[in-house]
Amino acid sequence: MKRLVILGASGSIGMQTIDVVLQHPSEFTITALGVGRNIEQLRNILTQIDVKVVSVQREEDAVQLAELYPQIRFYHGEEGLITLASSRDYDILVNALVGFAGFMPTLAAIESGHDVALANKETLVCGGSLIEKALDKYGRKLYPIDSEHSAVFQAMQGNDPEDVKRLIITASGGSFRNLTREQLKDVTVEQALAHPNWSMGAKITIDSADMMNKGFEVIEAHWLFRMPYEKIDVLMHPESVIHSMVEYVDHSVMAQLGVPDMRLPIQYALTVPKRWPLNEESLDLAEIGALHFSRPDTERFPLLALAYEAGRKGGNLCAVMNAANEAANLAFREGRIPFLMIEEIVTGAVRECRWDPMDTVEALFEADAWGTAYAQKKIEDYQ
Ligand code: MG
Repeated sequence: MKRLVILGASGSIGMQTIDVVLQHPSEFTITALGVGRNIEQLRNILTQIDVKVVSVQREEDAVQLAELYPQIRFYHGEEGLITLASSRDYDILVNALVGFAGFMPTLAAIESGHDVALANKETLVCGGSLIEKALDKYGRKLYPIDSEHSAVFQAMQGNDPEDVKRLIITASGGSFRNLTREQLKDVTVEQALAHPNWSMGAKITIDSADMMNKGFEVIEAHWLFRMPYEKIDVLMHPESVIHSMVEYVDHSVMAQLGVPDMRLPIQYALTVPKRWPLNEESLDLAEIGALHFSRPDTERFPLLALAYEAGRKGGNLCAVMNAANEAANLAFREGRIPFLMIEEIVTGAVRECRWDPMDTVEALFEADAWGTAYAQKKIEDYQ
């Protein structure tokens, strides 16, 4: 029986993780859950599973819930998430939090001797070097819950990482893949949130629409697989059937294919090297008929190129880029700035910040604060 702590349980990945757990009730148990403010979804989850410990974002919710569920111990806030991640009483953390908020719980889990199934890519985007050090120090592992990285991970099983020529990360291109720069000027939040292939949370769907997400995934792949940036390529593939590929030094290319459903990467992260049955459709390639590929257009979507640049220069730049993006992404979703201003703010933050080696967690928090403040100023100036 594998004991899980799930953070971000009420979100898209969290709910699909619970679905995977419910498909294998004799193999998995959930010891603790972390949710944000979606208390209705939490109550729905609690009708399906028994847990002893829950953390919510707000203290007032924790107090009210403690009266309704006297058998559960409630925590709240960032401290609550860290308490759950550092508890001794589980085997693997499923980190499905959104944004930089996911970093400290990942670090806390590693430092308390746990492996992490990581859906929170911002952990690695912001603090990849710090996480790498912690993994080495505590002898722990990360298992990817991101379809592309799970595909790479699967395509690397049984092969020597030394023999990898390059990783080929596929990209659907998001909601606006067929629009010109000119057309991108007036797109709406609703249009951006309609992803052609994947059903995901709001923040990542916007990150997909401007390809910041793919840039983050390049940085995530760099840290997860310890690959230099020159060995990581992005390939446009609108059908999202090939989830990513690995080319080896003999030019053999291993790909992982499947229907776009996150439950497979979630389950594989929890069962590797075993494969378990999963209640999802089979891939029907005859029905799909054709798969298409092209090179990414970094002029139309400059954030992908910016992510490579920030990743290569390293230090605090990726944390600054992420912080500016979190603020700009939210401001766009709130209707405060136009779509193309996201990239303007994120690019400005990376170009204008002072480079720092970012050797400590304190320096990471400084980089995050600087990027956030930079973006907030730009957003306010626009209004
Ligand atoms: Mg992905």
